[in-house]
Amino acid sequence: MVPGSFVSSYLGYDYTWNSSTKTSVITSRAPEDEDDQDGEDGPELGGDPVPDSVAFNWGISSDYTEEYNKANSHNTASEISDDNDTSSNITSIKMDSPFSSNIEVYAINSYAPFGKSTVKINDQTLNLHINNSYLEESDTKEYSLGGKLTDHITATTDHSDLSTDIDFDLMDPNTSYELSLSDDKCTLYLTLYPNYISNIEAGTQAGNDYVKITGLRELNVDLTENGNIISLEIPNTINSVGEQYLNTALNTLQSVTSTSTDGNTTKIILETSGSANYEVTNTGNTYLLTFTEESSNDNLDYALQIKIPDEVFYSEITNEDLYYNNQIVLRIPGDYRDLYNTYPIDSSNSVISDISVGYKNDMTEIVIGTTKLQGYKLKDLGGYIGVALGNPRDIYKNIVVLDAGHGGTDPGASRKLNGVTINEKDLNFKIMYELTQKYFNAEDSEIKAYYSRYNNTKVDLYERAAFAKKVGADLFISLHMNANINTSPKGTEIYYTGSNKATTDNGLNSKILANMFLNSLPGKIGTDKRYISDKNLAVCRENTVPAILIELGFMSNTSDLKKITDSDFQEKSAEAIYDILCDVFSSYPTGR
Ligand SMILES: [Zn+2]
Repeated sequence: MVPGSFVSSYLGYDYTWNSSTKTSVITSRAPEDEDDQDGEDGPELGGDPVPDSVAFNWGISSDYTEEYNKANSHNTASEISDDNDTSSNITSIKMDSPFSSNIEVYAINSYAPFGKSTVKINDQTLNLHINNSYLEESDTKEYSLGGKLTDHITATTDHSDLSTDIDFDLMDPNTSYELSLSDDKCTLYLTLYPNYISNIEAGTQAGNDYVKITGLRELNVDLTENGNIISLEIPNTINSVGEQYLNTALNTLQSVTSTSTDGNTTKIILETSGSANYEVTNTGNTYLLTFTEESSNDNLDYALQIKIPDEVFYSEITNEDLYYNNQIVLRIPGDYRDLYNTYPIDSSNSVISDISVGYKNDMTEIVIGTTKLQGYKLKDLGGYIGVALGNPRDIYKNIVVLDAGHGGTDPGASRKLNGVTINEKDLNFKIMYELTQKYFNAEDSEIKAYYSRYNNTKVDLYERAAFAKKVGADLFISLHMNANINTSPKGTEIYYTGSNKATTDNGLNSKILANMFLNSLPGKIGTDKRYISDKNLAVCRENTVPAILIELGFMSNTSDLKKITDSDFQEKSAEAIYDILCDVFSSYPTGR
Protein backbone atom coordinates (compact mmCIF):
# COMPACT_ATOMS: atom_id res chain seq x y z
CA MET A 1 0.00 0.00 0.00
CA VAL A 2 2.82 2.38 0.77
CA PRO A 3 5.79 1.35 -1.31
CA GLY A 4 7.69 4.44 -0.25
CA SER A 5 10.52 2.72 1.52
CA PHE A 6 12.66 2.32 -1.49
CA VAL A 7 12.40 5.98 -2.12
CA SER A 8 13.17 7.01 1.40
CA SER A 9 15.96 4.54 2.10
CA TYR A 10 17.60 5.45 -1.17
CA LEU A 11 17.51 9.07 -0.27
CA GLY A 12 19.12 8.53 3.10
CA TYR A 13 16.06 8.54 5.28
CA ASP A 14 14.94 5.92 7.70
CA TYR A 15 11.65 4.33 6.96
CA THR A 16 9.32 2.40 9.19
CA TRP A 17 6.09 0.72 8.29
CA ASN A 18 3.44 0.61 10.93
CA SER A 19 1.14 -2.25 10.04
CA SER A 20 -1.52 -1.40 12.61
CA THR A 21 -2.10 2.13 11.34
CA LYS A 22 -0.87 1.42 7.80
CA THR A 23 1.30 4.47 7.73
CA SER A 24 4.89 4.92 6.86
CA VAL A 25 7.24 7.14 8.79
CA ILE A 26 10.26 8.71 7.25
CA THR A 27 12.94 10.16 9.49
CA SER A 28 16.15 11.72 8.36
CA ARG A 29 19.36 9.97 9.29
CA ALA A 30 22.43 11.51 10.85
CA PRO A 31 23.91 14.14 8.54
CA GLU A 32 27.16 12.23 7.95
CA ASP A 33 25.18 9.76 5.87
CA GLU A 34 24.51 12.42 3.30
CA ASP A 35 27.80 12.69 1.61
CA ASP A 36 26.93 13.14 -2.03
CA GLN A 37 28.30 16.59 -2.30
CA ASP A 38 31.08 16.05 -4.75
CA GLY A 39 28.86 16.16 -7.83
CA GLU A 40 31.18 13.75 -9.66
CA ASP A 41 29.97 11.68 -12.50
CA GLY A 42 30.31 7.90 -12.31
CA PRO A 43 33.45 6.16 -13.50
CA GLU A 44 34.05 5.59 -17.17
CA LEU A 45 33.41 1.88 -17.07
CA GLY A 46 34.88 -0.16 -19.85
CA GLY A 47 37.58 2.41 -20.57
CA ASP A 48 40.87 2.55 -18.77
CA PRO A 49 40.69 5.65 -16.60
CA VAL A 50 43.62 6.73 -14.49
CA PRO A 51 42.86 6.35 -10.76
CA ASP A 52 42.77 9.49 -8.62
CA SER A 53 44.70 7.60 -5.98
CA VAL A 54 45.72 4.02 -5.32
CA ALA A 55 45.33 2.83 -1.73
CA PHE A 56 47.34 -0.34 -2.31
CA ASN A 57 48.46 -2.65 -5.05
CA TRP A 58 49.22 -6.20 -4.02
CA GLY A 59 51.23 -8.17 -6.55
CA ILE A 60 52.53 -11.73 -6.65
CA SER A 61 54.22 -12.76 -3.40
CA SER A 62 57.73 -14.21 -3.64
CA ASP A 63 56.42 -17.67 -2.67
CA TYR A 64 54.53 -17.81 -5.95
CA THR A 65 56.75 -15.89 -8.36
CA GLU A 66 58.42 -18.91 -9.88
CA GLU A 67 55.34 -21.02 -10.49
CA TYR A 68 53.31 -18.04 -11.65
CA ASN A 69 56.00 -17.13 -14.18
CA LYS A 70 56.08 -20.70 -15.37
CA ALA A 71 52.31 -20.77 -15.79
CA ASN A 72 52.37 -17.37 -17.48
CA SER A 73 55.19 -18.06 -19.92
CA HIS A 74 54.52 -21.60 -21.11
CA ASN A 75 53.62 -22.02 -24.74
CA THR A 76 50.44 -23.96 -25.10
CA ALA A 77 51.55 -27.04 -26.98
CA SER A 78 48.59 -29.03 -28.19
CA GLU A 79 50.23 -31.51 -30.49
CA ILE A 80 53.10 -33.98 -30.62
CA SER A 81 53.46 -34.90 -34.23
CA ASP A 82 56.16 -37.58 -34.29
CA ASP A 83 55.24 -40.77 -36.11
CA ASN A 84 55.81 -44.08 -34.40
CA ASP A 85 56.37 -47.43 -36.11
CA THR A 86 55.37 -49.58 -33.16
CA SER A 87 52.05 -49.14 -31.39
CA SER A 88 52.42 -47.74 -27.90
CA ASN A 89 50.87 -49.88 -25.19
CA ILE A 90 49.69 -47.55 -22.44
CA THR A 91 50.63 -49.15 -19.15
CA SER A 92 49.70 -46.43 -16.66
CA ILE A 93 48.48 -42.86 -16.12
CA LYS A 94 49.93 -41.24 -13.01
CA MET A 95 50.18 -37.88 -11.42
CA ASP A 96 53.78 -36.66 -11.56
CA SER A 97 53.52 -33.08 -10.29
CA PRO A 98 56.57 -31.19 -9.03
CA PHE A 99 56.80 -31.08 -5.25
CA SER A 100 54.83 -28.29 -3.50
CA SER A 101 53.57 -26.77 -6.71
CA ASN A 102 50.06 -26.10 -7.90
CA ILE A 103 50.91 -27.18 -11.42
CA GLU A 104 49.60 -30.67 -12.19
CA VAL A 105 51.54 -33.02 -14.43
CA TYR A 106 49.99 -36.26 -15.69
CA ALA A 107 52.40 -38.88 -16.99
CA ILE A 108 51.12 -41.40 -19.52
CA ASN A 109 53.55 -44.31 -19.77
CA SER A 110 54.21 -46.84 -22.50
CA TYR A 111 56.96 -49.34 -23.38
CA ALA A 112 57.11 -48.02 -26.94
CA PRO A 113 57.57 -44.40 -28.06
CA PHE A 114 54.41 -42.33 -28.48
CA GLY A 115 53.27 -41.13 -31.89
CA LYS A 116 51.03 -38.28 -32.95
CA SER A 117 49.00 -36.95 -30.01
CA THR A 118 46.56 -34.05 -29.96
CA VAL A 119 44.75 -32.04 -27.25
CA LYS A 120 41.35 -30.38 -27.64
CA ILE A 121 39.08 -28.77 -25.02
CA ASN A 122 35.33 -29.08 -25.31
CA ASP A 123 33.47 -27.33 -22.48
CA GLN A 124 34.62 -29.03 -19.29
CA THR A 125 36.51 -31.85 -20.99
CA LEU A 126 40.11 -31.90 -22.15
CA ASN A 127 40.51 -34.62 -24.74
CA LEU A 128 43.92 -36.13 -25.43
CA HIS A 129 43.86 -38.24 -28.59
CA ILE A 130 46.84 -40.58 -29.08
CA ASN A 131 47.30 -42.25 -32.47
CA ASN A 132 48.58 -45.80 -32.79
CA SER A 133 48.13 -46.68 -29.14
CA TYR A 134 46.06 -48.96 -26.94
CA LEU A 135 45.38 -49.51 -23.28
CA GLU A 136 46.80 -52.64 -21.77
CA GLU A 137 44.42 -55.11 -20.13
CA SER A 138 41.10 -53.38 -20.88
CA ASP A 139 39.64 -50.99 -23.45
CA THR A 140 38.34 -48.48 -20.88
CA LYS A 141 39.89 -47.33 -17.66
CA GLU A 142 38.91 -44.63 -15.18
CA TYR A 143 41.22 -42.77 -12.84
CA SER A 144 40.74 -40.48 -9.87
CA LEU A 145 44.17 -39.17 -9.03
CA GLY A 146 43.15 -36.51 -6.52
CA GLY A 147 44.00 -33.50 -8.70
CA LYS A 148 42.50 -30.08 -8.09
CA LEU A 149 42.34 -29.16 -11.76
CA THR A 150 40.93 -32.48 -12.92
CA ASP A 151 39.53 -35.09 -10.59
CA HIS A 152 38.28 -37.66 -13.08
CA ILE A 153 40.00 -39.17 -16.08
CA THR A 154 38.55 -41.69 -18.55
CA ALA A 155 40.71 -43.52 -21.08
CA THR A 156 39.19 -45.47 -23.99
CA THR A 157 40.83 -47.37 -26.82
CA ASP A 158 39.14 -47.48 -30.21
CA HIS A 159 40.29 -50.63 -32.02
CA SER A 160 38.87 -49.60 -35.40
CA ASP A 161 41.75 -47.13 -35.90
CA LEU A 162 43.89 -48.23 -32.96
CA SER A 163 43.83 -44.95 -31.09
CA THR A 164 43.22 -43.97 -27.48
CA ASP A 165 41.24 -41.03 -26.13
CA ILE A 166 41.98 -39.81 -22.63
CA ASP A 167 39.33 -37.42 -21.32
CA PHE A 168 40.15 -35.19 -18.35
CA ASP A 169 37.11 -33.62 -16.62
CA LEU A 170 38.23 -30.04 -15.96
CA MET A 171 37.16 -27.96 -12.97
CA ASP A 172 37.67 -24.82 -15.08
CA PRO A 173 37.07 -24.94 -18.85
CA ASN A 174 39.69 -22.19 -19.35
CA THR A 175 42.51 -24.30 -17.92
CA SER A 176 45.72 -23.91 -19.90
CA TYR A 177 47.93 -26.88 -20.63
CA GLU A 178 51.06 -28.15 -22.30
CA LEU A 179 51.88 -31.45 -23.97
CA SER A 180 55.43 -32.81 -23.96
CA LEU A 181 57.42 -36.02 -24.35
CA SER A 182 60.18 -37.56 -22.28
CA ASP A 183 63.58 -37.96 -23.95
CA ASP A 184 62.94 -41.65 -24.68
CA LYS A 185 59.46 -40.64 -25.98
CA CYS A 186 57.92 -43.39 -23.85
CA THR A 187 56.25 -40.97 -21.45
CA LEU A 188 53.75 -38.38 -22.59
CA TYR A 189 53.31 -35.50 -20.16
CA LEU A 190 50.19 -33.38 -19.92
CA THR A 191 50.79 -30.33 -17.73
CA LEU A 192 47.78 -28.39 -16.41
CA TYR A 193 48.28 -24.85 -15.14
CA PRO A 194 45.92 -23.41 -12.53
CA ASN A 195 44.51 -19.90 -12.75
CA TYR A 196 46.21 -17.40 -10.43
CA ILE A 197 45.06 -14.22 -8.73
CA SER A 198 48.04 -12.08 -9.66
CA ASN A 199 47.03 -8.61 -8.49
CA ILE A 200 44.59 -6.91 -6.15
CA GLU A 201 44.37 -3.15 -6.24
CA ALA A 202 42.08 -0.64 -4.57
CA GLY A 203 41.79 3.10 -4.75
CA THR A 204 39.64 5.95 -5.90
CA GLN A 205 38.83 6.78 -9.46
CA ALA A 206 36.61 9.64 -10.62
CA GLY A 207 35.61 10.12 -7.00
CA ASN A 208 34.47 6.51 -6.53
CA ASP A 209 36.25 3.76 -4.61
CA TYR A 210 37.11 0.65 -6.57
CA VAL A 211 38.70 -2.78 -6.18
CA LYS A 212 40.38 -4.41 -9.15
CA ILE A 213 41.31 -8.08 -9.20
CA THR A 214 43.50 -9.42 -11.96
CA GLY A 215 43.93 -13.09 -12.80
CA LEU A 216 46.24 -14.98 -15.08
CA ARG A 217 43.11 -15.95 -16.99
CA GLU A 218 39.42 -15.02 -16.88
CA LEU A 219 38.00 -14.91 -13.33
CA ASN A 220 34.67 -16.42 -12.40
CA VAL A 221 33.71 -14.47 -9.29
CA ASP A 222 30.87 -15.38 -6.96
CA LEU A 223 29.74 -12.25 -5.08
CA THR A 224 27.70 -12.39 -1.88
CA GLU A 225 26.63 -9.44 0.20
CA ASN A 226 25.82 -9.42 3.88
CA GLY A 227 25.26 -6.00 5.42
CA ASN A 228 28.49 -4.07 5.00
CA ILE A 229 30.52 -7.13 3.99
CA ILE A 230 30.98 -8.14 0.38
CA SER A 231 32.57 -11.58 -0.12
CA LEU A 232 34.15 -12.48 -3.42
CA GLU A 233 34.77 -16.20 -3.87
CA ILE A 234 36.85 -17.15 -6.87
CA PRO A 235 36.90 -20.89 -7.51
CA ASN A 236 39.68 -22.73 -9.34
CA THR A 237 42.32 -20.15 -8.55
CA ILE A 238 45.53 -19.95 -6.58
CA ASN A 239 45.91 -16.69 -4.70
CA SER A 240 49.49 -15.76 -5.51
CA VAL A 241 49.00 -12.44 -3.71
CA GLY A 242 48.81 -14.43 -0.46
CA GLU A 243 47.29 -13.43 2.86
CA GLN A 244 46.86 -9.68 3.12
CA TYR A 245 44.78 -7.23 5.09
CA LEU A 246 44.57 -3.49 4.80
CA ASN A 247 42.45 -0.89 6.49
CA THR A 248 42.01 1.32 3.46
CA ALA A 249 39.87 3.95 5.20
CA LEU A 250 38.63 5.18 1.84
CA ASN A 251 35.26 6.83 1.53
CA THR A 252 33.17 3.69 0.97
CA LEU A 253 35.73 0.89 1.06
CA GLN A 254 36.95 0.42 4.63
CA SER A 255 39.13 -2.67 4.41
CA VAL A 256 40.19 -5.50 2.13
CA THR A 257 41.20 -8.99 3.22
CA SER A 258 42.84 -11.43 0.87
CA THR A 259 42.86 -14.99 2.21
CA SER A 260 45.22 -17.77 1.25
CA THR A 261 43.60 -20.27 -1.06
CA ASP A 262 41.36 -22.75 0.70
CA GLY A 263 41.19 -25.91 -1.40
CA ASN A 264 41.18 -24.20 -4.74
CA THR A 265 39.02 -21.19 -3.91
CA THR A 266 40.32 -17.70 -3.21
CA LYS A 267 38.25 -15.50 -0.95
CA ILE A 268 38.50 -11.72 -0.90
CA ILE A 269 36.48 -9.83 1.69
CA LEU A 270 35.53 -6.19 1.31
CA GLU A 271 34.25 -4.16 4.24
CA THR A 272 32.26 -1.06 3.36
CA SER A 273 30.85 1.82 5.35
CA GLY A 274 27.18 0.86 5.52
CA SER A 275 25.44 -0.89 2.70
CA ALA A 276 27.01 0.33 -0.50
CA ASN A 277 26.00 0.45 -4.14
CA TYR A 278 28.45 -0.91 -6.66
CA GLU A 279 28.87 -1.91 -10.26
CA VAL A 280 30.84 -4.82 -11.60
CA THR A 281 32.65 -5.04 -14.90
CA ASN A 282 34.35 -8.26 -15.86
CA THR A 283 36.56 -7.88 -18.91
CA GLY A 284 39.17 -10.41 -19.96
CA ASN A 285 41.15 -11.37 -16.88
CA THR A 286 40.10 -8.29 -14.87
CA TYR A 287 37.28 -8.05 -12.36
CA LEU A 288 36.50 -4.46 -11.42
CA LEU A 289 34.08 -3.54 -8.66
CA THR A 290 33.31 0.18 -8.48
CA PHE A 291 31.34 1.67 -5.63
CA THR A 292 28.79 4.13 -6.85
CA GLU A 293 27.64 7.05 -4.81
CA GLU A 294 23.93 7.38 -4.39
CA SER A 295 24.36 10.50 -6.40
CA SER A 296 21.93 9.45 -9.11
CA ASN A 297 19.28 10.85 -6.79
CA ASP A 298 20.96 14.20 -6.60
CA ASN A 299 21.24 14.36 -10.34
CA LEU A 300 17.51 13.98 -10.65
CA ASP A 301 15.39 16.89 -11.64
CA TYR A 302 12.62 17.53 -9.20
CA ALA A 303 9.44 17.79 -11.18
CA LEU A 304 7.79 19.34 -8.14
CA GLN A 305 8.98 21.39 -5.20
CA ILE A 306 6.35 21.53 -2.51
CA LYS A 307 6.65 23.94 0.41
CA ILE A 308 6.93 22.28 3.84
CA PRO A 309 4.82 24.13 6.46
CA ASP A 310 7.06 25.82 9.06
CA GLU A 311 5.53 23.80 11.92
CA VAL A 312 6.11 20.44 10.17
CA PHE A 313 9.24 18.33 10.03
CA TYR A 314 9.99 16.65 6.74
CA SER A 315 10.10 13.36 8.65
CA GLU A 316 6.42 13.66 9.54
CA ILE A 317 5.34 13.65 5.91
CA THR A 318 4.20 10.26 4.62
CA ASN A 319 3.58 9.10 1.09
CA GLU A 320 1.61 6.46 -0.72
CA ASP A 321 2.03 5.16 -4.27
CA LEU A 322 -1.37 4.77 -5.92
CA TYR A 323 0.29 3.55 -9.11
CA TYR A 324 -2.94 1.86 -10.19
CA ASN A 325 -4.53 5.35 -10.41
CA ASN A 326 -1.36 7.11 -11.67
CA GLN A 327 -1.31 9.04 -8.41
CA ILE A 328 1.11 9.77 -5.61
CA VAL A 329 -0.25 10.96 -2.29
CA LEU A 330 1.68 13.05 0.23
CA ARG A 331 0.18 13.45 3.70
CA ILE A 332 1.12 16.30 6.02
CA PRO A 333 -0.23 16.36 9.58
CA GLY A 334 -2.46 19.44 10.10
CA ASP A 335 -4.65 21.58 7.87
CA TYR A 336 -2.51 23.56 5.42
CA ARG A 337 -5.04 24.15 2.66
CA ASP A 338 -4.63 27.91 3.15
CA LEU A 339 -0.86 27.65 2.87
CA TYR A 340 -1.12 25.93 -0.51
CA ASN A 341 -3.58 28.61 -1.64
CA THR A 342 -0.92 31.18 -0.82
CA TYR A 343 1.90 29.01 -2.20
CA PRO A 344 0.21 27.08 -4.99
CA ILE A 345 2.02 23.94 -6.05
CA ASP A 346 3.26 24.72 -9.49
CA SER A 347 4.67 22.32 -12.01
CA SER A 348 5.56 22.81 -15.60
CA ASN A 349 6.36 19.13 -16.02
CA SER A 350 4.13 17.76 -18.74
CA VAL A 351 3.85 14.35 -17.03
CA ILE A 352 1.79 15.91 -14.22
CA SER A 353 -1.90 16.00 -15.10
CA ASP A 354 -3.35 17.54 -11.96
CA ILE A 355 -2.60 18.33 -8.34
CA SER A 356 -5.22 18.56 -5.65
CA VAL A 357 -4.95 19.61 -2.02
CA GLY A 358 -7.54 18.24 0.41
CA TYR A 359 -7.99 17.59 4.10
CA LYS A 360 -8.79 14.16 5.51
CA ASN A 361 -8.23 12.47 8.92
CA ASP A 362 -6.38 15.53 10.30
CA MET A 363 -4.00 15.42 7.39
CA THR A 364 -3.48 17.67 4.42
CA GLU A 365 -3.51 15.35 1.42
CA ILE A 366 -1.67 16.39 -1.70
CA VAL A 367 -2.62 14.12 -4.58
CA ILE A 368 -0.30 14.33 -7.57
CA GLY A 369 -1.87 12.92 -10.72
CA THR A 370 0.36 11.89 -13.61
CA THR A 371 -0.48 11.21 -17.25
CA LYS A 372 1.09 7.75 -16.97
CA LEU A 373 2.47 5.48 -14.27
CA GLN A 374 5.56 7.06 -12.70
CA GLY A 375 8.21 5.93 -10.30
CA TYR A 376 9.15 8.60 -7.78
CA LYS A 377 11.66 9.70 -5.19
CA LEU A 378 11.22 12.31 -2.50
CA LYS A 379 13.89 14.49 -0.96
CA ASP A 380 14.10 17.15 1.72
CA LEU A 381 15.38 20.16 -0.20
CA GLY A 382 15.35 22.39 2.91
CA GLY A 383 11.92 23.90 3.37
CA TYR A 384 10.66 22.10 0.27
CA ILE A 385 9.87 18.49 -0.65
CA GLY A 386 11.51 17.59 -3.94
CA VAL A 387 9.48 15.08 -5.95
CA ALA A 388 11.42 13.41 -8.74
CA LEU A 389 9.37 11.49 -11.28
CA GLY A 390 10.35 9.11 -14.03
CA ASN A 391 9.81 5.77 -15.66
CA PRO A 392 10.09 3.14 -12.92
CA ARG A 393 13.25 1.70 -14.49
CA ASP A 394 14.90 5.12 -14.33
CA ILE A 395 13.98 5.46 -10.67
CA TYR A 396 14.27 1.98 -9.14
CA LYS A 397 17.23 -0.39 -9.15
CA ASN A 398 15.18 -3.60 -8.99
CA ILE A 399 11.50 -4.04 -9.81
CA VAL A 400 9.24 -7.04 -9.30
CA VAL A 401 5.58 -7.70 -9.88
CA LEU A 402 4.05 -9.71 -7.06
CA ASP A 403 0.97 -11.51 -8.25
CA ALA A 404 -1.55 -12.87 -5.72
CA GLY A 405 -3.35 -15.64 -7.63
CA HIS A 406 -7.12 -15.59 -8.27
CA GLY A 407 -9.39 -12.97 -6.62
CA GLY A 408 -12.96 -11.66 -6.70
CA THR A 409 -15.36 -14.11 -8.33
CA ASP A 410 -12.50 -16.57 -8.80
CA PRO A 411 -11.76 -18.08 -5.38
CA GLY A 412 -9.18 -20.63 -6.60
CA ALA A 413 -9.12 -23.85 -4.59
CA SER A 414 -11.37 -24.16 -1.54
CA ARG A 415 -11.15 -26.45 1.48
CA LYS A 416 -12.76 -26.54 4.91
CA LEU A 417 -10.70 -26.29 8.07
CA ASN A 418 -12.52 -26.70 11.41
CA GLY A 419 -15.81 -26.05 9.62
CA VAL A 420 -14.62 -22.81 8.03
CA THR A 421 -14.24 -22.50 4.25
CA ILE A 422 -10.76 -21.35 3.27
CA ASN A 423 -10.37 -19.82 -0.19
CA GLU A 424 -7.06 -19.88 -2.00
CA LYS A 425 -7.48 -16.30 -3.25
CA ASP A 426 -7.45 -14.99 0.34
CA LEU A 427 -4.33 -16.95 1.34
CA ASN A 428 -2.53 -15.72 -1.79
CA PHE A 429 -3.56 -12.12 -1.09
CA LYS A 430 -2.66 -12.19 2.60
CA ILE A 431 0.88 -13.44 1.94
CA MET A 432 1.66 -11.88 -1.41
CA TYR A 433 0.02 -8.48 -0.92
CA GLU A 434 -0.51 -7.68 2.75
CA LEU A 435 2.49 -9.38 4.36
CA THR A 436 5.19 -8.76 1.75
CA GLN A 437 4.84 -4.97 1.99
CA LYS A 438 6.82 -4.45 5.14
CA TYR A 439 9.81 -6.30 3.63
CA PHE A 440 9.72 -4.58 0.26
CA ASN A 441 9.09 -1.26 2.03
CA ALA A 442 11.74 -1.75 4.71
CA GLU A 443 14.47 0.80 5.19
CA ASP A 444 17.16 -1.23 3.48
CA SER A 445 14.96 -2.74 0.76
CA GLU A 446 16.29 -2.17 -2.71
CA ILE A 447 13.40 -3.85 -4.47
CA LYS A 448 10.34 -1.94 -5.63
CA ALA A 449 7.26 -4.18 -5.68
CA TYR A 450 4.22 -3.52 -7.83
CA TYR A 451 1.14 -5.61 -7.16
CA SER A 452 -0.97 -7.05 -9.97
CA ARG A 453 -3.98 -6.87 -7.67
CA TYR A 454 -4.38 -4.77 -4.55
CA ASN A 455 -7.87 -5.83 -3.51
CA ASN A 456 -10.31 -8.68 -3.83
CA THR A 457 -11.05 -8.45 -7.54
CA LYS A 458 -10.62 -10.82 -10.42
CA VAL A 459 -7.80 -9.72 -12.71
CA ASP A 460 -7.44 -11.26 -16.16
CA LEU A 461 -4.34 -13.44 -16.53
CA TYR A 462 -3.19 -11.63 -19.68
CA GLU A 463 -3.58 -8.32 -17.89
CA ARG A 464 -1.40 -9.56 -15.01
CA ALA A 465 1.37 -10.45 -17.44
CA ALA A 466 0.99 -7.17 -19.35
CA PHE A 467 1.24 -5.26 -16.06
CA ALA A 468 4.83 -6.49 -15.61
CA LYS A 469 5.72 -4.93 -18.95
CA LYS A 470 3.88 -1.73 -18.13
CA VAL A 471 5.77 -1.11 -14.86
CA GLY A 472 9.12 -2.11 -16.36
CA ALA A 473 9.44 -5.09 -14.00
CA ASP A 474 12.56 -7.21 -13.97
CA LEU A 475 10.74 -10.31 -12.71
CA PHE A 476 7.23 -11.63 -12.16
CA ILE A 477 6.33 -13.89 -9.21
CA SER A 478 2.87 -15.42 -8.87
CA LEU A 479 1.67 -17.06 -5.67
CA HIS A 480 -0.85 -19.91 -5.53
CA MET A 481 -1.88 -22.77 -3.28
CA ASN A 482 -2.05 -26.27 -4.71
CA ALA A 483 -4.89 -28.81 -4.45
CA ASN A 484 -5.29 -32.40 -5.49
CA ILE A 485 -8.15 -34.93 -5.35
CA ASN A 486 -5.70 -37.17 -3.54
CA THR A 487 -5.03 -35.89 0.02
CA SER A 488 -1.47 -37.20 0.33
CA PRO A 489 0.58 -34.85 -1.93
CA LYS A 490 2.15 -32.00 0.07
CA GLY A 491 4.96 -29.50 -0.29
CA THR A 492 6.13 -26.68 -2.52
CA GLU A 493 6.32 -26.77 -6.32
CA ILE A 494 7.50 -24.03 -8.68
CA TYR A 495 6.20 -23.68 -12.22
CA TYR A 496 7.76 -21.90 -15.15
CA THR A 497 7.31 -22.30 -18.85
CA GLY A 498 10.04 -22.89 -21.40
CA SER A 499 7.99 -20.98 -23.96
CA ASN A 500 8.72 -17.77 -22.03
CA LYS A 501 12.17 -17.11 -23.48
CA ALA A 502 12.76 -13.85 -21.59
CA THR A 503 16.34 -13.60 -20.33
CA THR A 504 17.76 -10.64 -18.45
CA ASP A 505 21.02 -8.99 -19.54
CA ASN A 506 22.72 -10.98 -16.81
CA GLY A 507 21.43 -14.32 -18.08
CA LEU A 508 18.59 -14.89 -15.64
CA ASN A 509 15.63 -16.77 -17.08
CA SER A 510 12.44 -18.32 -15.71
CA LYS A 511 13.96 -21.75 -15.18
CA ILE A 512 16.93 -20.44 -13.21
CA LEU A 513 14.52 -18.33 -11.15
CA ALA A 514 12.32 -21.38 -10.53
CA ASN A 515 15.33 -23.37 -9.36
CA MET A 516 16.50 -20.59 -7.05
CA PHE A 517 13.06 -20.53 -5.41
CA LEU A 518 12.80 -24.31 -5.18
CA ASN A 519 16.23 -24.58 -3.62
CA SER A 520 15.57 -21.97 -0.93
CA LEU A 521 11.88 -21.58 -0.24
CA PRO A 522 10.93 -24.99 1.26
CA GLY A 523 13.89 -24.87 3.65
CA LYS A 524 13.03 -21.35 4.82
CA ILE A 525 9.34 -22.08 5.50
CA GLY A 526 9.44 -25.77 6.44
CA THR A 527 7.50 -27.35 3.58
CA ASP A 528 8.44 -30.45 1.59
CA LYS A 529 10.58 -29.67 -1.44
CA ARG A 530 8.88 -31.08 -4.51
CA TYR A 531 10.11 -29.98 -7.93
CA ILE A 532 10.10 -27.35 -10.64
CA SER A 533 7.87 -28.07 -13.58
CA ASP A 534 7.55 -26.69 -17.12
CA LYS A 535 3.85 -25.88 -17.43
CA ASN A 536 2.18 -23.80 -20.08
CA LEU A 537 0.46 -21.34 -17.73
CA ALA A 538 -0.79 -18.03 -19.15
CA VAL A 539 0.77 -15.76 -16.50
CA CYS A 540 4.19 -17.32 -17.13
CA ARG A 541 3.85 -17.75 -20.89
CA GLU A 542 2.48 -14.27 -21.67
CA ASN A 543 5.10 -12.49 -19.60
CA THR A 544 7.89 -10.55 -21.28
CA VAL A 545 10.15 -10.98 -18.24
CA PRO A 546 11.30 -14.11 -16.38
CA ALA A 547 8.21 -15.40 -14.58
CA ILE A 548 7.40 -18.18 -12.15
CA LEU A 549 4.37 -19.44 -10.27
CA ILE A 550 4.83 -20.70 -6.73
CA GLU A 551 2.47 -23.42 -5.49
CA LEU A 552 3.29 -22.91 -1.82
CA GLY A 553 1.49 -25.92 -0.33
CA PHE A 554 -1.48 -28.22 -0.80
CA MET A 555 -4.86 -27.13 0.53
CA SER A 556 -5.93 -30.77 -0.01
CA ASN A 557 -3.40 -32.04 2.52
CA THR A 558 -4.26 -31.64 6.22
CA SER A 559 -0.76 -30.89 7.39
CA ASP A 560 -0.08 -28.38 4.56
CA LEU A 561 -3.47 -26.70 5.06
CA LYS A 562 -2.67 -26.16 8.75
CA LYS A 563 0.63 -24.57 7.77
CA ILE A 564 -0.62 -22.24 5.05
CA THR A 565 -3.42 -20.92 7.26
CA ASP A 566 -1.02 -20.32 10.17
CA SER A 567 -0.11 -16.64 10.56
CA ASP A 568 3.51 -17.32 11.56
CA PHE A 569 3.94 -19.47 8.48
CA GLN A 570 2.38 -16.79 6.29
CA GLU A 571 4.71 -14.18 7.73
CA LYS A 572 7.72 -16.44 7.16
CA SER A 573 6.62 -17.07 3.59
CA ALA A 574 6.38 -13.34 2.82
CA GLU A 575 9.83 -12.77 4.31
CA ALA A 576 11.28 -15.75 2.41
CA ILE A 577 9.94 -14.42 -0.91
CA TYR A 578 11.63 -11.11 -0.18
CA ASP A 579 14.91 -12.75 0.92
CA ILE A 580 15.09 -15.01 -2.11
CA LEU A 581 14.44 -12.08 -4.45
CA CYS A 582 17.30 -10.19 -2.77
CA ASP A 583 19.54 -13.17 -3.52
CA VAL A 584 18.29 -13.26 -7.09
CA PHE A 585 19.12 -9.58 -7.68
CA SER A 586 22.44 -9.98 -5.93
CA SER A 587 23.38 -12.91 -8.20
CA TYR A 588 21.87 -11.31 -11.29
CA PRO A 589 22.24 -7.53 -10.78
CA THR A 590 20.13 -5.40 -13.09
CA GLY A 591 23.03 -3.01 -13.64
CA ARG A 592 20.78 -0.03 -13.03
ZN1 LIG B 1 -4.31 -21.18 -7.86
